[in-house]
Amino acid sequence: MNVKWGAALFAVFFTVMLLLPVSAEANQRIFIDPGHGGSDPGAIGNGLSEKNVTLNIALKTRDILNQEYEGHSVMLSRTTDQTLSLSTRTNMANNWGADYLVSIHINAGGGTGFESYTYNGSYSGKAETNRLRGIVHNAIVGQTGFIDRGKKEANFHMVRQSAMPAVLTENGFIDNSSDAAALKSNAFLTDIARGHAEGIAAVLNLPRSSQQAYVEILADSLWTYNSANWNDRGNIVHKGEVYKVTGSKFKVDGGNMYKLANGDYITASTSYVRYFKK
Ligand SMILES: [Zn+2]
Repeated sequence: MNVKWGAALFAVFFTVMLLLPVSAEANQRIFIDPGHGGSDPGAIGNGLSEKNVTLNIALKTRDILNQEYEGHSVMLSRTTDQTLSLSTRTNMANNWGADYLVSIHINAGGGTGFESYTYNGSYSGKAETNRLRGIVHNAIVGQTGFIDRGKKEANFHMVRQSAMPAVLTENGFIDNSSDAAALKSNAFLTDIARGHAEGIAAVLNLPRSSQQAYVEILADSLWTYNSANWNDRGNIVHKGEVYKVTGSKFKVDGGNMYKLANGDYITASTSYVRYFKK
């Protein structure tokens, strides 16, 4: 190799070294584990199965993170009603190189409210793991108004066998009638998910998404809906008005809707609305 090529390669090497840490930091990996699933329903009570509630919360948490934050990717251990061993779950997170792991559960056995767990063993980074857990824990209690049962430690597989800071959340008691009633409310599950998402975002210092989505009304007048149901008409909106959208469009009975930031729903049909971000 001649001197010129050597210098050029050295310059390239230096440039790459300068760029690498920035791009590595820009993508924080969040692993979300909806507890139980498939042949393992988890706790059961008041007509609820833990596996369904945890999946619902996990999907909502993923969606809030993806819609409202940048600089991360999310992996779920399952996105359907699937049987997975605990080792499969922690192997997925470890092999992926997750930066943070949250395992979502619903409690049972008498009690009410929220508690969270980190690993009770001694390990390097324990103080930091517990500090980060405090951020997630407080965000969930703040969003939900759950009675705070405390920040606890236990020898649970999900927090012991994960190679990154990890927390296991117990979101209310399925066998407590008032907790269960709350867990049947879609809005309350969204609050739980928002607590998880905002806690995780704070832990990983995720920037808020710089782009807000909107719809502009194209039709002279157009119905909104109180729920994701074409029969549940709400208000009339008018041509030229612009509304903030939360999330992406979703299928409702042969059509598509957006949810608006004000809580109403609206058609996503491009004949009636124009979707844009800015
Ligand atoms: Zn559980």
